[in-house]
Parts: sequence; C-alpha cells; structure tokens
Amino acid sequence: MNTSPEHNDLYDICIVGAGMAGATIAAYLASKGINIALIDREYTEKRRIVGELLQPGAVEALKKMGLERLLEGFDAQPVYGYALFQNEQKFSIPYNQNDATDYHGVGLHNGRFLQKIREDALSNDSVHQIHGTVSELMEDAKGVVTGVKYREKHTRKYKTIHAKLTIMSDGFFSNFRKDLSNNVKSVTSFFIGLVLKNCQLPFPHHGHVFLSAPTPFICYPISSTETRLLIDYPGDKAPKKEDIKSHIADKVAPFLPKEFAECFANAIREDNFKVMPNHYMPAKPVLREGAVLLGDALNMRHPLTGGGLTAVFNDVLLLSTHLLAMPDFNDPKLIHEKLELYYQDRYHANTNVNIMANALYGVMSNDLLKQGVFEYLRQGSNKVDNPSPITLLAGLNRNPKTLIKHFFSVSLLCIKNLSIHSNMSLSNVFRVIKDSFCIIKPLAINELRPSSFYRKNIQH
Ligand SMILES: Cc1cc2nc3c(=O)[nH]c(=O)nc-3n(C[C@H](O)[C@H](O)[C@H](O)COP(=O)(O)OP(=O)(O)OC[C@H]3O[C@@H](n4cnc5c(N)ncnc54)[C@H](O)[C@@H]3O)c2cc1C
Repeated sequence: MNTSPEHNDLYDICIVGAGMAGATIAAYLASKGINIALIDREYTEKRRIVGELLQPGAVEALKKMGLERLLEGFDAQPVYGYALFQNEQKFSIPYNQNDATDYHGVGLHNGRFLQKIREDALSNDSVHQIHGTVSELMEDAKGVVTGVKYREKHTRKYKTIHAKLTIMSDGFFSNFRKDLSNNVKSVTSFFIGLVLKNCQLPFPHHGHVFLSAPTPFICYPISSTETRLLIDYPGDKAPKKEDIKSHIADKVAPFLPKEFAECFANAIREDNFKVMPNHYMPAKPVLREGAVLLGDALNMRHPLTGGGLTAVFNDVLLLSTHLLAMPDFNDPKLIHEKLELYYQDRYHANTNVNIMANALYGVMSNDLLKQGVFEYLRQGSNKVDNPSPITLLAGLNRNPKTLIKHFFSVSLLCIKNLSIHSNMSLSNVFRVIKDSFCIIKPLAINELRPSSFYRKNIQH
C-alpha cells in the first residue's frame, strides 16, 4: 500500500464521518477556533429514512450550542406533541403540559438537515474538508492513536492525517468501534419507510403512533407536504420485497385511519420502500489515548421514540464542553482525562433516552402491555402528572426514577385492566409481571449507573 503523508499539518482534531454527529461537532468546535480535519467518503445529499424527527431534547441541545438556526430554510416542520391510536380510540399529548414551557420537536428531511450542518462546519477556515474512506487508525509505539489512514476519493491514493485527537463518528456500520469499545450490537427489528404525500394528519404537527396492528407503526411530518410512515417489521432477518408487500397488506393497511387511505394507496403504487435495521447497542467504550467514539458508532437504541439525535447532540455537547475546558490540545494527559469524563457523564445524559426507546418498543409490541400503556398515557394526558411521561419521550427528563415509576405503573394498570375485562387469571398476571421484567431488566443493567440517580435530572 503506497501511502503519502499529504497533510503535514498536525490537527487538533480529526473527525472520521461527517454524518449527524461528526458534522455537528465540527460545526460547533470550529466556531470556537479548533483546527479540524473532517473526513467523509461521501458529501452528496442522501435520502435516508433515519433521523427525521428531532425530539425537544435534541432541539434544546442544538440551542445550547447556538446551532438551532441550522433547522431553518428547508421546510422543516415544528412538532408539538404525540398522538396515539388504538382501534377507534385516539388522543394527543402536548410536549408542554402548561404555559411555563415552550418546547417543540422538529420533523425534517435528514439529508437536507445534514447538508446544512456540513455547509456550516465547512464555512469555517479552521475546518479542512477531506473526501475519502478511512481504512485504518494509526498509532505510535505505545498504542496511542495519532491519526488515520484514508483513501482519497478523486486520486484513489492512500494518505494520512495526523491529529492530537481522533473522533470516530462513522455511524451504525462503524468499522472502528471494535478498536475503541467492547460494544455488541443486535438487530431488534426493521423499519420499512415510505413517504405519504399531501396527507392530512388527524393531529397536524404531531408524531402519530398506531397500536392497533400486531406491531407498531409511526408517522410524522417531514416537510409541509410530506409525512414519513415507518412500519415495524419484527425479527432480525431483513424482509424481502414480497414479505414487505404481504406485511403491509395484512398488518398495516387494515389498521390505518381512513384519513390515510388515498395517500397511502398512492405511496404503495409508487413502490418506493426503504428498509433499515433497528439496532440496540449499549455503550461499552474502552478508554484509549488519542481517540474517542461519538454517535451511533458508540451507542444505539430502537428508533421508535426518535431518541437517536437527542443522544447524539447530548454527546456532542458534552464532549465539546469537556474539550473546550482545556486551554489547548497540547497536553495528551489532559485530553485523556477529558475523554474519561465524557464517557462517564454521557451515561447520565442518555440513560432515559436509551431505556425509553427499547422499553417502549417492547411494551408496544406486547398484546397485554400495549393496552396498558395506551390507557396510562390517555389518563396522563387529561391530568397534569408531574413529571409527565411525555417529558421522557421528549428527551427532557433525565431522572431514571421517573421512568421506572411510569414503567411499573403501566404494568400495574395492565393487571387492573385484566380484572376489569374479566381476564384475570393467574397465568395472565404472571405474564404481565414476567414480560415487564424481561423488557426492563437487561436495559437497566446496561444503562443504569449510580451517577444516573444523583446528577441534576432535568434537561442539561
Ligand atoms: C430507521 C431509523 C430511523 C431513525 N429515526 C430517527 C428519528 O426519527 N429521530 C432521531 O433522533 N433518530 C433517529 N434515528 C437514529 C439517528 O438517525 C442516528 O442516531 C444518527 O443518524 C447517528 O448519527 P451518526 O453521525 O452517528 O451516523 P451517520 O449520520 O450515519 O454518519 C456516519 C457518517 O460516517 C461516514 N463514514 C462511515 N464510514 C466511513 C469511513 N470508513 N470513512 C469515511 N467516512 C465514513 C458516512 O458516510 C456517514 O456520513 C433513526 C435510526 C434508524 C435506523
């Protein structure tokens, strides 16, 4: 392999992957004068079905970095709360339970948003854009990461970049997480995505969750004329084209509200489905000098709750705050201490986002429990239950006690419902208890840390 050290400069930071995490941290740190090499294999706009709904927690983190302005100018839509549907019943829950708060989420085209962030990052003189595929981490004799080797897109030559810190943010199919973590990822299910055009939503500017079908499906606006529909396909094997068609015909179409009939039929005729795996991967980073993981390369959760970008932006803000507390990047020991702090602090920032995503997916895919969660949230939508479960979904509440309290309250309500519907048998009660524990136990083990309980718990 012929490698030329094209870039002789020593950068403060080399960022691998100009995706949601990498481009955002580049935009934020470059505005503070940090010298950055930003590498991605592709800079053209992508049409992806991921990262299209920002919960208020994600918007608040962007605000803290002064980057909320990047949500403007491409027909992104404000989202004010959630609506739930089961059979003929429906209700909505606003993010703001009273006039004291003014939170909102945003629905958008992920590709358009990412191009905006990249454009902003690259408008800084201190960011050097590199178009190429990173093939290897470079390290010195002591195993300290000193930069990366990459293949430049237009010359197809192998080149090197040297930096005092390398941030690996190469996304869910990361090639480098194995060098920096003990992470193990698993596929929980798949999302089949399609776009509904000119669809009048029953609750405009809301995320919609449909629980009548055997597995959940969700939708939300991504522009003033388009609605993203994401359909869950359970299991760890990707559906084939014929599986998608039969799944939609049997397990989605009969359960859609009538408002969707025409735009749904049009979308099916267009036959433009996209399929993505939904991963769960708790963060198990290994501290290594000179390098750190960020974004999906470090941690993933089920996308049902749209919590991914809340976690990504929380992490970007945390890592940046620690790095910016240093006078410069000239003390490797101090950089290492800051990385350690970031890995510790991020547990607290993301515990609820991570548990909530997979717990809610587990509950909403379970016949007995999903009726309970529907009832529970409906009761909660009528009274000010402080702090309400919507603060968890919104990514605004970091107190795990709130989450645990709501989770087990749902289980209790399920048991109560069994008696109301004359369904009370020992085996059903046992099933509710067993299923609840089976859902929450592995999540609690992976995500809860003592620090999750004693740090400041309301947003940031
Ligand atoms: C189906 C689905 C739906 C989702 N919906 C939502 C949602 O509604 N709301 C939400 O908040 N989250 C959602 N998420 C999660 C969210 O999209 C991710 O958490 C987020 O995109 C992660 O950002 P990232 O920067 O880590 O990865 P990415 O945005 O994927 O970026 C990785 C970048 O690295 C580059 N790269 C990779 N390898 C290399 C290499 N070797 N060399 C150079 N460059 C490289 C890639 O080209 C890419 O640009 C969803 C996820 C899924 C799977």
